[in-house]
Amino acid sequence: MLLTELSPKIMNNTFTNKNINNLKFQNLNWITIQSDMKNKLGVDIYESWLKKINFVEEFNNYLLLSVPTRFIRDWITSRYLDQILQIIKIYKKDIVRVEFKIVEQNAKDEVIHENSKELSMKENISFIKDSYLQYNRIDPNKRFDNFIKGTSNKLAHEASLKVSENLSNYNPLYIYGGVGLGKTHLLNAIGFELKKNHKVMFISAERFMYQFVKSIKTNDMVRFKENFRNTDVLLIDDIQFMNGKEVMQEEFIHTFNALLDKGSQIIISADRAPNKLSRIQERIKSRFSGGLVVDIQKPDFELRKKIVEEKMNELNNLYSEKFNISDEIKHFISNEITASIREIVGAVNRIISFSRIYNKMPNLSETKVVLKDLLNLTENKVTIDLIQTIVCKFFKISKNEMLSSRRSRYLVRPRQTAIYLTKILTSKSLPEIGREFSNRDHTTIIHSVKTVEKLKEKDPEMVENINKLKNQILYNNKENEI
Ligand code: ADP
Ligand code: MG
Repeated sequence: MLLTELSPKIMNNTFTNKNINNLKFQNLNWITIQSDMKNKLGVDIYESWLKKINFVEEFNNYLLLSVPTRFIRDWITSRYLDQILQIIKIYKKDIVRVEFKIVEQNAKDEVIHENSKELSMKENISFIKDSYLQYNRIDPNKRFDNFIKGTSNKLAHEASLKVSENLSNYNPLYIYGGVGLGKTHLLNAIGFELKKNHKVMFISAERFMYQFVKSIKTNDMVRFKENFRNTDVLLIDDIQFMNGKEVMQEEFIHTFNALLDKGSQIIISADRAPNKLSRIQERIKSRFSGGLVVDIQKPDFELRKKIVEEKMNELNNLYSEKFNISDEIKHFISNEITASIREIVGAVNRIISFSRIYNKMPNLSETKVVLKDLLNLTENKVTIDLIQTIVCKFFKISKNEMLSSRRSRYLVRPRQTAIYLTKILTSKSLPEIGREFSNRDHTTIIHSVKTVEKLKEKDPEMVENINKLKNQILYNNKENEI
């Protein structure tokens, strides 16, 4: 039975370990490891890199993990692998190594979709196990003064500010919008202000559910009710999580009514408008619409640019070295990363990580590689065919010539370059690459890659050519479609 589909029956029978054991969950709790990584390596590094790591499978003495791009894998393995392994060893000392496979974002979404049932069970179990996680924690880094305003979030920002200045102006206040657009930031900012003078409870709907189940298990419903009904301000994040959970909805509406009766302020966030919530009781939806409903839209160019600027300044104030992203890069990020503010912030963090490590700002083509998984240029668009076509065009040779066995100098270099680019830009294995280059042996492939790597060290023109080609392949590949 799915834990998400909590029926009164299981609630009465309480959660037994038997239920959980049947679901064959992994020994290692990846969520715990991730939160350790965040604590030990810092939020910056975590958000920019480590968060991208997904758990795939656990073996006796090693773990298989996945990341969305080769670049991220190389970056993580060259810089953080030791620390990651140390953290994992705390939980299972037999693990001696970690392996990464590259699972492109799109492909990964499909896998998740296929296994969604199993995954959601796992997530829930991890969640139930995470009893040490604190709720009601206001993040002091998400305040009104560092919330950047634009057309898309103006209304939500103003309403939040009003609520935090004058309780019960709009009750409930319902803020909705897509992922990473600033809902949690605003709820947190309201909590941060109001907790100065009021009793504030800030909880995600998931956590509310967890507390609720736990209280039933431990026969502690009285305290649960008291806890939530005693507050002056209740902030509930991601309310869409209540969908389908009838018993929890029942409890929630009681809490909700009790709080409104005593004049407490309620603020809710969700990923969609109240009337679009699925599997949530009509009367709850209509209660949600009874106060003020505001949305946050995707940021427009102007806001994106402002976020890049201000986040840069914020990070620069944090570190002693100062970095200046060129206008070209700023423009590029603001232009290309449009889906969410979280991604823009992540992109700026990566650029800063890059510059701190290499002691220079990335140029445009390095930026594209560093941000590849955030851009709409997934690795699967980069085919060997595309690489061959672009390289042939660049060196003005024909594809037949490139794939032939002729060893004239004017053919060898482009061929090696194409092989090298295939190795670094796709996740193809050496034999696979060999096959696509007229059945060449994998040792020839290794030789080509090594030759280009050596040439790059002493020949600036080679470096420039590779960069230009990489750029065309990763970025302008639409123009070169064949
Ligand atoms: P949501 O809850 O809507 O998914 P979050 O509030 O968690 O999104 O925001 C994602 C990230 O982006 C957070 O780090 C947050 O601080 C940042 N962020 C979002 N909107 C803004 C904004 N307007 N100004 C500054 N930072 C923002
Ligand atoms: Mg959120």
